[in-house]
Amino acid sequence: MTEYFDVIVIGGGLAGLAAARTARLGGASVVVLEAHGGGGRARTTTKDGFSFNLGGHALYIGGAGGEALAALSIRPEGSPPPLGRYQLLKEGRMGVMPSTAGTLARCGLLSWRSKAQLGSALARLAKIDASRLAGTSMEQWMQNLELHSDVEDVIRALVRLSTYSADMSALGADAGVAQLQLGASSGVLYLHGGWGQLLAAFGAGQEVRIHCPVRALREEAGRIEVQLDNGSLVGGSAVVAVGGPGATARLLPGSIDWGELGGPVTAACLDAAVDHHPAPGYVLSLDRPLYASTQGPPARLAPPGAAVMSVVKYGTGSPDVDRAELETHMRVAGVTIEGVLHQRFLATMVVAETSCRAELGGLEGRPSISATGVPGAFMAGDWVGPAGLLAGASIASGHAAGLAALRHITTTASRQARNST
Ligand SMILES: Cc1cc2nc3c(=O)[nH]c(=O)nc-3n(C[C@H](O)[C@H](O)[C@H](O)COP(=O)(O)OP(=O)(O)OC[C@H]3O[C@@H](n4cnc5c(N)ncnc54)[C@H](O)[C@@H]3O)c2cc1C
Repeated sequence: MTEYFDVIVIGGGLAGLAAARTARLGGASVVVLEAHGGGGRARTTTKDGFSFNLGGHALYIGGAGGEALAALSIRPEGSPPPLGRYQLLKEGRMGVMPSTAGTLARCGLLSWRSKAQLGSALARLAKIDASRLAGTSMEQWMQNLELHSDVEDVIRALVRLSTYSADMSALGADAGVAQLQLGASSGVLYLHGGWGQLLAAFGAGQEVRIHCPVRALREEAGRIEVQLDNGSLVGGSAVVAVGGPGATARLLPGSIDWGELGGPVTAACLDAAVDHHPAPGYVLSLDRPLYASTQGPPARLAPPGAAVMSVVKYGTGSPDVDRAELETHMRVAGVTIEGVLHQRFLATMVVAETSCRAELGGLEGRPSISATGVPGAFMAGDWVGPAGLLAGASIASGHAAGLAALRHITTTASRQARNST
Protein backbone atom coordinates (compact mmCIF):
# COMPACT_ATOMS: atom_id res chain seq x y z
CA MET A 1 0.00 0.00 0.00
CA THR A 2 1.26 3.50 -0.83
CA GLU A 3 2.36 5.42 2.27
CA TYR A 4 0.44 8.61 3.06
CA PHE A 5 1.63 11.76 4.88
CA ASP A 6 -0.27 14.99 5.38
CA VAL A 7 2.77 16.94 4.19
CA ILE A 8 5.67 15.65 2.12
CA VAL A 9 8.71 17.89 2.20
CA ILE A 10 11.26 17.45 -0.57
CA GLY A 11 14.75 18.64 0.39
CA GLY A 12 16.39 18.50 3.81
CA GLY A 13 18.17 21.86 3.86
CA LEU A 14 17.11 24.78 6.06
CA ALA A 15 14.08 25.65 3.92
CA GLY A 16 12.74 22.08 3.88
CA LEU A 17 13.39 21.54 7.59
CA ALA A 18 11.69 24.83 8.47
CA ALA A 19 8.65 23.76 6.42
CA ALA A 20 8.64 20.33 8.04
CA ARG A 21 8.86 21.68 11.59
CA THR A 22 6.09 24.18 10.89
CA ALA A 23 3.79 21.47 9.55
CA ARG A 24 4.60 19.05 12.36
CA LEU A 25 4.03 21.65 15.08
CA GLY A 26 0.68 22.29 13.35
CA GLY A 27 -0.26 18.65 13.98
CA ALA A 28 0.39 17.20 10.50
CA SER A 29 2.12 13.92 9.76
CA VAL A 30 5.29 14.87 7.86
CA VAL A 31 8.14 13.17 6.03
CA VAL A 32 11.25 14.87 4.66
CA LEU A 33 12.80 13.28 1.58
CA GLU A 34 16.42 14.25 1.06
CA ALA A 35 18.51 13.27 -1.97
CA HIS A 36 21.87 13.30 -0.19
CA GLY A 37 23.00 13.22 3.44
CA GLY A 38 20.90 16.19 4.56
CA GLY A 39 21.50 19.77 5.58
CA GLY A 40 22.25 21.12 2.12
CA ARG A 41 24.42 24.23 2.25
CA ALA A 42 23.97 24.53 6.02
CA ARG A 43 25.78 21.33 6.83
CA THR A 44 28.78 21.23 9.15
CA THR A 45 31.64 18.74 8.95
CA THR A 46 34.08 17.97 11.74
CA LYS A 47 37.73 16.96 11.63
CA ASP A 48 40.08 16.48 14.58
CA GLY A 49 37.93 18.57 16.89
CA PHE A 50 37.34 21.39 14.36
CA SER A 51 33.87 22.16 12.96
CA PHE A 52 33.59 23.61 9.47
CA ASN A 53 30.58 25.18 7.84
CA LEU A 54 30.61 25.32 4.05
CA GLY A 55 32.49 28.62 3.95
CA GLY A 56 32.05 31.46 6.43
CA HIS A 57 28.53 31.54 7.87
CA ALA A 58 26.90 34.20 10.07
CA LEU A 59 23.26 33.86 11.09
CA TYR A 60 21.13 37.01 10.95
CA ILE A 61 19.06 36.73 14.08
CA GLY A 62 16.45 39.34 13.17
CA GLY A 63 14.21 39.90 10.17
CA ALA A 64 11.81 37.44 8.61
CA GLY A 65 14.19 34.52 9.20
CA GLY A 66 14.56 35.43 12.88
CA GLU A 67 10.79 35.74 13.28
CA ALA A 68 10.33 32.29 11.74
CA LEU A 69 12.98 30.83 14.06
CA ALA A 70 11.18 32.33 17.06
CA ALA A 71 7.79 31.04 15.86
CA LEU A 72 9.33 27.57 15.64
CA SER A 73 10.89 27.88 19.12
CA ILE A 74 14.41 27.63 17.76
CA ARG A 75 16.93 29.62 19.77
CA PRO A 76 20.29 29.62 18.00
CA GLU A 77 23.28 29.49 20.33
CA GLY A 78 26.45 31.27 19.39
CA SER A 79 28.52 34.39 19.77
CA PRO A 80 28.49 37.66 17.87
CA PRO A 81 31.66 38.47 15.97
CA PRO A 82 33.91 40.99 17.78
CA LEU A 83 33.20 43.99 15.53
CA GLY A 84 35.64 46.15 17.48
CA ARG A 85 38.51 44.00 16.15
CA TYR A 86 37.49 44.27 12.49
CA GLN A 87 40.01 45.91 10.17
CA LEU A 88 39.43 47.49 6.79
CA LEU A 89 42.18 46.99 4.22
CA LYS A 90 42.93 49.52 1.53
CA GLU A 91 46.03 49.70 -0.67
CA GLY A 92 47.94 47.56 1.81
CA ARG A 93 47.02 49.70 4.85
CA MET A 94 44.72 48.61 7.64
CA GLY A 95 42.37 50.71 9.74
CA VAL A 96 39.74 49.79 12.28
CA MET A 97 36.29 49.21 10.75
CA PRO A 98 33.82 51.93 11.76
CA SER A 99 31.06 50.12 13.62
CA THR A 100 30.59 52.61 16.49
CA ALA A 101 31.21 56.33 16.99
CA GLY A 102 34.52 55.45 18.68
CA THR A 103 35.82 53.21 15.89
CA LEU A 104 34.60 55.71 13.28
CA ALA A 105 36.73 58.39 14.95
CA ARG A 106 39.75 56.05 15.07
CA CYS A 107 39.48 54.76 11.47
CA GLY A 108 42.74 55.86 9.85
CA LEU A 109 41.62 55.14 6.30
CA LEU A 110 39.08 57.98 6.02
CA SER A 111 39.44 61.75 6.08
CA TRP A 112 37.48 63.67 8.74
CA ARG A 113 34.99 64.86 6.12
CA SER A 114 34.44 61.29 4.95
CA LYS A 115 34.06 60.10 8.54
CA ALA A 116 31.36 62.70 9.10
CA GLN A 117 29.61 61.70 5.88
CA LEU A 118 29.78 57.97 6.66
CA GLY A 119 28.59 58.58 10.22
CA SER A 120 25.54 60.49 9.06
CA ALA A 121 24.79 57.95 6.26
CA LEU A 122 24.89 55.09 8.79
CA ALA A 123 22.82 57.05 11.31
CA ARG A 124 20.14 57.69 8.65
CA LEU A 125 20.14 54.05 7.55
CA ALA A 126 17.74 52.84 10.23
CA LYS A 127 15.09 55.36 9.19
CA ILE A 128 14.95 54.31 5.52
CA ASP A 129 11.94 52.36 4.29
CA ALA A 130 13.94 49.84 2.26
CA SER A 131 10.87 48.51 0.42
CA ARG A 132 10.53 51.88 -1.33
CA LEU A 133 13.90 51.29 -3.00
CA ALA A 134 12.59 48.38 -5.11
CA GLY A 135 13.77 48.86 -8.69
CA THR A 136 16.80 50.94 -7.64
CA SER A 137 20.22 49.31 -7.62
CA MET A 138 22.68 49.69 -4.74
CA GLU A 139 24.97 51.60 -7.10
CA GLN A 140 22.19 54.06 -8.03
CA TRP A 141 21.22 54.44 -4.39
CA MET A 142 24.78 55.38 -3.43
CA GLN A 143 25.04 57.79 -6.37
CA ASN A 144 21.84 59.53 -5.25
CA LEU A 145 23.43 60.08 -1.82
CA GLU A 146 26.40 61.81 -3.51
CA LEU A 147 28.91 60.14 -1.21
CA HIS A 148 32.67 60.59 -1.31
CA SER A 149 34.28 57.72 -3.19
CA ASP A 150 36.03 56.39 -0.04
CA VAL A 151 32.67 56.34 1.80
CA GLU A 152 31.13 54.45 -1.13
CA ASP A 153 34.00 51.94 -0.87
CA VAL A 154 33.17 51.28 2.79
CA ILE A 155 29.44 50.91 2.06
CA ARG A 156 30.14 48.57 -0.87
CA ALA A 157 32.32 46.39 1.39
CA LEU A 158 29.63 46.32 4.10
CA VAL A 159 26.99 45.34 1.53
CA ARG A 160 29.25 42.58 0.18
CA LEU A 161 29.77 41.38 3.73
CA SER A 162 26.06 41.24 4.52
CA THR A 163 24.63 40.04 1.19
CA TYR A 164 27.53 38.12 -0.41
CA SER A 165 26.75 40.11 -3.59
CA ALA A 166 29.66 41.74 -5.38
CA ASP A 167 27.72 43.40 -8.20
CA MET A 168 26.30 46.63 -6.79
CA SER A 169 24.92 47.72 -10.16
CA ALA A 170 22.69 44.61 -10.19
CA LEU A 171 21.72 44.16 -6.54
CA GLY A 172 18.40 45.73 -5.56
CA ALA A 173 18.80 48.48 -2.96
CA ASP A 174 15.62 47.22 -1.25
CA ALA A 175 17.46 43.97 -0.46
CA GLY A 176 20.89 45.50 0.19
CA VAL A 177 19.68 48.26 2.48
CA ALA A 178 17.33 45.92 4.38
CA GLN A 179 20.23 43.54 4.99
CA LEU A 180 22.46 46.38 6.22
CA GLN A 181 19.67 47.46 8.57
CA LEU A 182 19.33 43.92 9.87
CA GLY A 183 23.05 43.65 10.52
CA ALA A 184 23.06 47.00 12.34
CA SER A 185 19.93 46.33 14.43
CA SER A 186 19.84 42.71 15.57
CA GLY A 187 23.25 41.60 14.30
CA VAL A 188 24.57 38.14 13.56
CA LEU A 189 25.78 35.09 15.45
CA TYR A 190 28.52 32.63 14.71
CA LEU A 191 26.93 29.39 15.84
CA HIS A 192 28.52 27.07 18.40
CA GLY A 193 29.30 23.75 16.71
CA GLY A 194 28.46 25.29 13.32
CA TRP A 195 25.20 25.47 11.43
CA GLY A 196 24.68 21.77 12.07
CA GLN A 197 23.23 23.11 15.34
CA LEU A 198 20.33 24.65 13.43
CA LEU A 199 19.78 21.50 11.40
CA ALA A 200 19.64 19.41 14.57
CA ALA A 201 17.13 21.80 16.16
CA PHE A 202 14.93 21.88 13.06
CA GLY A 203 15.20 18.15 12.46
CA ALA A 204 14.51 17.01 16.05
CA GLY A 205 11.64 14.55 16.02
CA GLN A 206 11.23 14.71 12.23
CA GLU A 207 11.19 11.71 9.96
CA VAL A 208 13.96 12.49 7.49
CA ARG A 209 14.73 9.90 4.81
CA ILE A 210 18.21 10.56 3.46
CA HIS A 211 19.63 9.34 0.15
CA CYS A 212 16.06 9.38 -1.09
CA PRO A 213 15.92 11.57 -4.22
CA VAL A 214 12.52 12.57 -5.50
CA ARG A 215 12.16 12.25 -9.27
CA ALA A 216 8.80 13.91 -9.95
CA LEU A 217 5.67 15.26 -8.33
CA ARG A 218 2.12 15.53 -9.61
CA GLU A 219 -1.34 16.25 -8.34
CA GLU A 220 -4.08 13.70 -8.76
CA ALA A 221 -7.57 13.80 -7.31
CA GLY A 222 -6.62 16.48 -4.81
CA ARG A 223 -3.55 14.63 -3.55
CA ILE A 224 0.15 14.95 -4.32
CA GLU A 225 1.97 11.92 -5.62
CA VAL A 226 5.72 11.96 -5.22
CA GLN A 227 7.83 9.61 -7.31
CA LEU A 228 10.93 7.98 -5.85
CA ASP A 229 13.40 5.53 -7.41
CA ASN A 230 11.65 2.61 -5.78
CA GLY A 231 8.00 3.57 -5.63
CA SER A 232 5.93 6.54 -4.63
CA LEU A 233 4.40 8.35 -1.66
CA VAL A 234 1.12 10.21 -1.44
CA GLY A 235 0.62 13.45 0.45
CA GLY A 236 -2.21 15.80 1.24
CA SER A 237 0.23 18.57 0.38
CA ALA A 238 3.92 19.02 -0.49
CA VAL A 239 6.71 21.52 -0.09
CA VAL A 240 9.51 21.54 -2.67
CA ALA A 241 12.70 22.92 -1.10
CA VAL A 242 15.42 21.45 -3.25
CA GLY A 243 17.78 24.44 -3.52
CA GLY A 244 17.24 26.47 -6.66
CA PRO A 245 14.84 27.14 -9.51
CA GLY A 246 16.39 24.58 -11.87
CA ALA A 247 16.10 21.68 -9.42
CA THR A 248 12.57 22.80 -8.49
CA ALA A 249 11.36 23.07 -12.09
CA ARG A 250 12.72 19.58 -12.89
CA LEU A 251 10.37 18.06 -10.29
CA LEU A 252 7.24 19.93 -11.31
CA PRO A 253 4.93 18.83 -14.11
CA GLY A 254 4.48 21.07 -17.14
CA SER A 255 6.66 24.02 -18.00
CA ILE A 256 6.95 26.67 -15.37
CA ASP A 257 7.59 30.31 -16.21
CA TRP A 258 8.91 32.32 -13.29
CA GLY A 259 10.29 34.87 -15.74
CA GLU A 260 13.84 36.16 -15.48
CA LEU A 261 15.21 35.45 -11.97
CA GLY A 262 18.84 36.63 -12.05
CA GLY A 263 21.73 34.18 -11.86
CA PRO A 264 23.17 32.74 -8.66
CA VAL A 265 25.34 34.60 -6.16
CA THR A 266 28.60 32.69 -5.96
CA ALA A 267 31.69 32.81 -3.79
CA ALA A 268 35.06 31.11 -3.55
CA CYS A 269 35.87 30.01 0.00
CA LEU A 270 38.91 28.93 1.96
CA ASP A 271 38.30 27.37 5.37
CA ALA A 272 41.22 26.56 7.64
CA ALA A 273 41.87 24.97 11.00
CA VAL A 274 44.81 26.78 12.61
CA ASP A 275 46.80 26.09 15.77
CA HIS A 276 46.70 29.72 17.01
CA HIS A 277 44.37 32.68 17.35
CA PRO A 278 45.11 34.84 14.30
CA ALA A 279 45.54 38.57 14.78
CA PRO A 280 43.90 40.76 13.64
CA GLY A 281 41.68 37.84 12.62
CA TYR A 282 39.03 39.94 10.83
CA VAL A 283 39.92 41.82 7.65
CA LEU A 284 37.44 43.28 5.16
CA SER A 285 39.10 44.53 1.99
CA LEU A 286 37.94 47.75 0.36
CA ASP A 287 39.96 47.22 -2.85
CA ARG A 288 39.05 43.61 -3.54
CA PRO A 289 35.91 41.54 -2.78
CA LEU A 290 37.67 39.68 0.06
CA TYR A 291 36.85 39.05 3.70
CA ALA A 292 38.58 36.97 6.36
CA SER A 293 36.98 36.11 9.68
CA THR A 294 37.92 33.94 12.61
CA GLN A 295 34.61 32.17 13.15
CA GLY A 296 35.69 30.18 16.13
CA PRO A 297 36.45 31.53 18.62
CA PRO A 298 34.16 33.37 19.31
CA ALA A 299 31.95 30.40 18.33
CA ARG A 300 32.90 27.03 19.78
CA LEU A 301 34.34 25.48 16.62
CA ALA A 302 37.90 24.63 17.60
CA PRO A 303 39.88 23.07 20.49
CA PRO A 304 41.28 25.52 23.09
CA GLY A 305 44.08 27.70 21.70
CA ALA A 306 43.18 26.85 18.10
CA ALA A 307 40.81 28.51 15.64
CA VAL A 308 38.68 28.12 12.53
CA MET A 309 39.26 30.84 9.95
CA SER A 310 37.09 31.39 6.86
CA VAL A 311 38.09 33.56 3.94
CA VAL A 312 35.61 34.45 1.25
CA LYS A 313 35.94 35.96 -2.19
CA TYR A 314 32.61 37.44 -3.28
CA GLY A 315 32.07 36.35 -6.89
CA THR A 316 34.28 33.78 -8.56
CA GLY A 317 36.91 33.80 -11.30
CA SER A 318 39.60 31.31 -12.19
CA PRO A 319 39.99 28.81 -9.31
CA ASP A 320 43.80 29.09 -9.26
CA VAL A 321 43.73 32.87 -9.10
CA ASP A 322 40.92 32.88 -6.51
CA ARG A 323 42.74 30.38 -4.32
CA ALA A 324 45.97 32.38 -4.41
CA GLU A 325 44.06 35.57 -3.48
CA LEU A 326 42.27 33.80 -0.62
CA GLU A 327 45.54 32.37 0.74
CA THR A 328 47.21 35.77 0.63
CA HIS A 329 44.25 37.36 2.39
CA MET A 330 44.33 34.67 5.07
CA ARG A 331 47.95 35.59 5.81
CA VAL A 332 46.98 39.28 5.97
CA ALA A 333 44.41 38.32 8.60
CA GLY A 334 47.19 36.79 10.70
CA VAL A 335 47.29 33.09 9.86
CA THR A 336 50.83 31.78 9.65
CA ILE A 337 51.63 29.15 6.99
CA GLU A 338 53.12 26.72 9.51
CA GLY A 339 50.09 27.13 11.79
CA VAL A 340 47.59 25.70 9.27
CA LEU A 341 46.50 22.22 10.33
CA HIS A 342 43.79 21.63 7.70
CA GLN A 343 42.69 23.72 4.77
CA ARG A 344 39.73 23.34 2.41
CA PHE A 345 39.24 25.34 -0.79
CA LEU A 346 35.72 25.52 -2.23
CA ALA A 347 36.12 26.96 -5.73
CA THR A 348 32.53 27.87 -6.58
CA MET A 349 29.85 27.88 -3.92
CA VAL A 350 26.29 28.93 -4.68
CA VAL A 351 25.55 31.19 -1.75
CA ALA A 352 22.13 32.30 -2.99
CA GLU A 353 20.27 30.72 -5.87
CA THR A 354 19.23 34.01 -7.46
CA SER A 355 20.68 37.48 -7.23
CA CYS A 356 17.75 39.76 -6.36
CA ARG A 357 18.44 42.16 -9.20
CA ALA A 358 17.02 45.66 -9.10
CA GLU A 359 15.86 45.48 -12.74
CA LEU A 360 13.78 42.38 -11.89
CA GLY A 361 11.98 44.09 -9.02
CA GLY A 362 14.36 43.18 -6.19
CA LEU A 363 12.80 41.18 -3.35
CA GLU A 364 9.26 41.59 -4.71
CA GLY A 365 10.41 40.16 -8.06
CA ARG A 366 11.07 36.72 -6.57
CA PRO A 367 8.44 33.99 -7.16
CA SER A 368 5.97 33.27 -4.37
CA ILE A 369 5.71 30.04 -2.37
CA SER A 370 2.59 29.09 -4.38
CA ALA A 371 4.17 29.50 -7.82
CA THR A 372 4.52 25.75 -8.47
CA GLY A 373 1.58 25.49 -10.84
CA VAL A 374 0.37 22.53 -8.75
CA PRO A 375 -2.51 23.03 -6.30
CA GLY A 376 -1.39 21.85 -2.86
CA ALA A 377 2.32 22.03 -3.69
CA PHE A 378 4.39 24.94 -2.38
CA MET A 379 8.04 25.87 -2.72
CA ALA A 380 10.73 27.43 -0.57
CA GLY A 381 14.35 28.50 -0.71
CA ASP A 382 16.61 31.53 -0.68
CA TRP A 383 15.15 32.58 -4.07
CA VAL A 384 11.49 32.37 -3.04
CA GLY A 385 9.16 34.91 -1.44
CA PRO A 386 9.51 38.62 -0.74
CA ALA A 387 11.29 38.41 2.62
CA GLY A 388 14.97 38.34 3.48
CA LEU A 389 18.15 37.16 1.86
CA LEU A 390 20.29 34.03 2.15
CA ALA A 391 19.35 31.65 4.97
CA GLY A 392 16.84 34.20 6.28
CA ALA A 393 14.91 33.86 3.01
CA SER A 394 15.14 30.04 3.09
CA ILE A 395 13.87 29.82 6.66
CA ALA A 396 11.14 32.44 6.15
CA SER A 397 9.85 30.91 2.90
CA GLY A 398 10.11 27.40 4.40
CA HIS A 399 7.99 28.50 7.36
CA ALA A 400 5.48 30.22 5.06
CA ALA A 401 5.30 27.14 2.81
CA GLY A 402 4.75 24.90 5.86
CA LEU A 403 1.87 27.12 6.99
CA ALA A 404 0.40 27.09 3.46
CA ALA A 405 0.64 23.28 3.37
CA LEU A 406 -1.18 23.09 6.72
CA ARG A 407 -3.92 25.43 5.46
CA HIS A 408 -4.26 23.35 2.31
CA ILE A 409 -4.78 20.05 4.11
CA THR A 410 -7.20 21.66 6.57
CA THR A 411 -9.25 23.19 3.74
CA THR A 412 -9.22 19.94 1.76
CA ALA A 413 -10.27 17.93 4.83
CA SER A 414 -13.15 20.27 5.65
CA ARG A 415 -14.28 20.26 1.99
CA GLN A 416 -14.26 16.45 2.00
CA ALA A 417 -16.18 16.40 5.31
CA ARG A 418 -18.79 18.81 3.85
CA ASN A 419 -19.14 16.68 0.71
CA SER A 420 -19.65 13.48 2.70
CA THR A 421 -22.52 14.91 4.80
C1 LIG B 1 29.70 29.62 1.22
C2 LIG B 1 28.35 29.98 1.75
C3 LIG B 1 28.26 30.92 2.76
C4 LIG B 1 27.01 31.31 3.25
N1 LIG B 1 26.93 32.21 4.26
C5 LIG B 1 25.74 32.57 4.74
C6 LIG B 1 25.66 33.49 5.80
O1 LIG B 1 26.68 33.94 6.32
N2 LIG B 1 24.43 33.85 6.26
C7 LIG B 1 23.29 33.35 5.71
O2 LIG B 1 22.20 33.73 6.14
N3 LIG B 1 23.33 32.46 4.69
C8 LIG B 1 24.53 32.07 4.19
N4 LIG B 1 24.60 31.17 3.18
C9 LIG B 1 23.36 30.76 2.53
C10 LIG B 1 22.65 29.59 3.22
O3 LIG B 1 23.58 28.58 3.52
C11 LIG B 1 21.59 29.07 2.26
O4 LIG B 1 20.75 30.14 1.87
C12 LIG B 1 20.70 28.02 2.88
O5 LIG B 1 21.45 27.04 3.56
C13 LIG B 1 19.90 27.37 1.75
O6 LIG B 1 19.00 26.41 2.29
P1 LIG B 1 17.94 25.69 1.34
O7 LIG B 1 17.28 24.69 2.16
O8 LIG B 1 17.11 26.73 0.69
O9 LIG B 1 18.78 25.04 0.15
P2 LIG B 1 19.88 23.88 0.23
O10 LIG B 1 20.71 24.05 1.43
O11 LIG B 1 20.56 23.91 -1.09
O12 LIG B 1 19.05 22.54 0.42
C14 LIG B 1 18.39 21.89 -0.63
C15 LIG B 1 18.36 20.40 -0.28
O13 LIG B 1 17.54 19.72 -1.23
C16 LIG B 1 18.14 18.49 -1.54
N5 LIG B 1 17.62 18.05 -2.85
C17 LIG B 1 17.90 18.55 -4.07
N6 LIG B 1 17.21 17.90 -5.03
C18 LIG B 1 16.47 16.96 -4.39
C19 LIG B 1 15.55 15.96 -4.83
N7 LIG B 1 15.25 15.81 -6.12
N8 LIG B 1 14.97 15.15 -3.92
C20 LIG B 1 15.25 15.30 -2.59
N9 LIG B 1 16.13 16.23 -2.11
C21 LIG B 1 16.72 17.06 -3.00
C22 LIG B 1 19.62 18.80 -1.54
O14 LIG B 1 20.39 17.61 -1.38
C23 LIG B 1 19.73 19.75 -0.36
O15 LIG B 1 20.00 19.07 0.85
C24 LIG B 1 25.83 30.75 2.70
C25 LIG B 1 25.93 29.77 1.69
C26 LIG B 1 27.18 29.39 1.23
C27 LIG B 1 27.27 28.35 0.15
